[in-house]
Amino acid sequence: MCRHLAYLGPPIPLSRLLFDAPHGLAHQSWAPRDMRGGGTINADGFGLGWFPSPVVYRSARPLWSDPALPGLAAATSSGAILAAVRSATVGMPVIESAAAPFHDGPWLFSHNGRVAGWPDSVTEVAAGLPVRDLITLDAPTDSALLWALVRARLRTGATLGDALSSVVTSVAAAAPGSRLNLLLTDGRSLAAVAFGHALSVLSPPGSVLVASEPIDDDPGWRAVPDLSLLVADPSAVHISEGAFS
Ligand code: GLN
Repeated sequence: MCRHLAYLGPPIPLSRLLFDAPHGLAHQSWAPRDMRGGGTINADGFGLGWFPSPVVYRSARPLWSDPALPGLAAATSSGAILAAVRSATVGMPVIESAAAPFHDGPWLFSHNGRVAGWPDSVTEVAAGLPVRDLITLDAPTDSALLWALVRARLRTGATLGDALSSVVTSVAAAAPGSRLNLLLTDGRSLAAVAFGHALSVLSPPGSVLVASEPIDDDPGWRAVPDLSLLVADPSAVHISEGAFS
């Protein structure tokens, strides 16, 4: 399944997370270590989002095949970055707008996993959304629907962590067996859910990096236990273990 990561801290070149780290996102796109049976490589598109603004660059091609990307990533620095590579779930289209990050206003979002029983399992959950949101989904995929559900909660003032928790709870109840690793940032803080897929966090003083797989062999990486909610900013990481047990 897809691989994603989010970084908050002092500005760094995007290339540090993609290409320079020994197991950066580029390496994870063709040699992931921990896919848990959900695909083998992540070649169905990629996306980068970085603050301020934020700016989003997405593509339906494999990350390693974009000739402009190494230069762009080396020349662009940011203190708040979310990036993802995609392995499309069977039956879902391989198009640019299905690649994370999904973006609106100050928010960037990514989903690693699949909604079981898609689409029938979640029609009732989806029916709670405004019609406008449904007819303007980024793509006809489970991840795009999850983003619309998260965004609806954010718009009513929910915190990042509460928005993710609420969506995971309702989708997991409607579609048991789903894998719902979610990642969300507003550029100042981030929230992440481990729900069926791997997730790790590295938090040296003054920064935080959450990733599907550690991008290097720094001994500070910690595995986030499954069924947990993580909320972090550059100065603190809080993990609610068993939040979805
Ligand atoms: N189900 C989502 C999609 O197809 C995410 C896939 C994944 O995590 N590999 O886009």
